[in-house]
Amino acid sequence: MSIEWEVVIGLEIHAQLATRSKIFSGSSTAFGAEPNAQANLVDLGYPGVLPVLNREAVRMAVMFGLAAGATIARRSVFARKNYFYPDLPKGYQISQYELPIVEDGSVDIVLDDGSRKTIGITRAHLEEDAGKSLHEGLGARSGIDLNRAGTPLLEIVSEPDMRSAREAIAYMKKIHTLVRYLEICDGNMQEGSFRCDANVSVRHEGKREFGTRCEIKNLNSFRFIEKAINYEMARQIDLLEGGGSVVQETRLYDPDRNETRSMRSKEEANDYRYFPDPDLLPVSLDERWIEDVKTSLPELPDDKAARFVREHGLSEYDAGVLTASREMAAYYEDVVRRLGGEPKLAANWVMGDLSGYLNRDGLDVDRSPVDAVRLAGLLARIVDQTISGKIAKEVLEAMWTGAVDADAVIESKGLRQITDTSAIEAVIAEVMAANPRQLADYRSGKDKLFGFFVGQVMKATGGKANPAQVNELLKKLLAER
Ligand code: ADP
Ligand code: MG
Repeated sequence: MSIEWEVVIGLEIHAQLATRSKIFSGSSTAFGAEPNAQANLVDLGYPGVLPVLNREAVRMAVMFGLAAGATIARRSVFARKNYFYPDLPKGYQISQYELPIVEDGSVDIVLDDGSRKTIGITRAHLEEDAGKSLHEGLGARSGIDLNRAGTPLLEIVSEPDMRSAREAIAYMKKIHTLVRYLEICDGNMQEGSFRCDANVSVRHEGKREFGTRCEIKNLNSFRFIEKAINYEMARQIDLLEGGGSVVQETRLYDPDRNETRSMRSKEEANDYRYFPDPDLLPVSLDERWIEDVKTSLPELPDDKAARFVREHGLSEYDAGVLTASREMAAYYEDVVRRLGGEPKLAANWVMGDLSGYLNRDGLDVDRSPVDAVRLAGLLARIVDQTISGKIAKEVLEAMWTGAVDADAVIESKGLRQITDTSAIEAVIAEVMAANPRQLADYRSGKDKLFGFFVGQVMKATGGKANPAQVNELLKKLLAER
């Protein structure tokens, strides 16, 4: 029997702040421009130029801090983190070290068993991003693109509070939801606007001290984070069980081979020779300004989810799913408002069929071909019994590709539900006449055949007969002799 191991994870998330210009210069932050088209003298690291702090970046960092229940530093300081890298022409990165702008916050995550867990946020600090080295398509040469240099980042450092890859993903998703609610980061992981370094160590379950950690750099998909952590955990356990020890280092995850590889030994903070940047004044925030930022905050995801439970009678799980994105939550509430109620019906359709189509076609809800007005129009026809839920699925499919209203589809395809008793009775009579053997068997006690008759009647009416009426009338007519 092997010993039980426990994994310990802390994440450093980098969220690119959605300012229009860079954190210390006026260059644009727009993604995708020609290399170096958006790099001015400050970004290029020319000697003698001076950085000027972007107020908007500070405001966004404070919004995050307030949303995470953190302490906002009334005074914070930018520091130089010195290291050499080809895409860092100044030879140092401007970051925050001893006095970050945000400290000591937390967020709640929901675990697989439905319980909640609070994950501590040690700090969140402002810093500038570096440029990019380009290797592809340049033959034997490499290029440097400094468009990204100076883009504002908020580095959000968690406590080592997570105990599985699933918890790490839940935490990362929670922060992703939060920054998107606040509209301080576009959350685009493919473009690298939202990425993380995962610190992973293992220890024997029940032990108090942490093991030696490795840091896996630059993970930019939820799937990769999960795989990288699980791989790294297994690697460390193998090492330790084989009598070896874990070396503290920085590793890279290779998704093609699903493994992590050593990149460099881990620097200690003193290797960076941090010191306060003499070109920038300390950031002083006054109470009034912080108060103003606080009042500008939107309804936060947890508050919204709690309200959905309270006002719409949804389960916590459903409320969590519907509030994971602000756009999805707005869409859902729009449907309920237009429908004038029926919050559970609306939740089922938004989370079920609608989300199914959105996922299939890779669309965000605000680009849904069926907008909230149209979905509410469809659900209204279920509520007033013009169509059954089953037929509604067919109508939605037609609406998805046809950009039309539910009523138009129902009319043009003749899908109106049959609720006329005598019409349904006539169909039942036909079905009974066409299936004498099954009728005799049913009447001699084969109750199971009831379903067969329901199926035949629904088939004969193209699924349009009102199912409740079909059941009721069949019971009556099959029993008659
Ligand atoms: P650095 O700045 O050198 O990366 P920090 O002390 O700021 O180091 O920690 C970075 C991250 O590593 C934090 O998210 C923290 O929670 C996490 N961490 C620290 N110790 C461990 C450990 N033993 N196992 C897992 N994660 C850890
Ligand atoms: Mg680190």
